[in-house]
Amino acid sequence: MKLRIDMIKENVKCENCGVELTEDNIYVMEINGQKHYFCCSHCADNYIERKLH
Ligand SMILES: [Zn+2]
Repeated sequence: MKLRIDMIKENVKCENCGVELTEDNIYVMEINGQKHYFCCSHCADNYIERKLH
């Protein structure tokens, strides 16, 4: 699920690999009601994998 971001916080970085995010590459995933920011679905999956296991 890719969501359009109206306002991006300053210096948002991928929570998995640390890459700086822009409107073009940002990928948002809601986990337990909290928004987490990644550069791609692969990083989101990777992050969730590490969180859950
Ligand atoms: Zn990433």
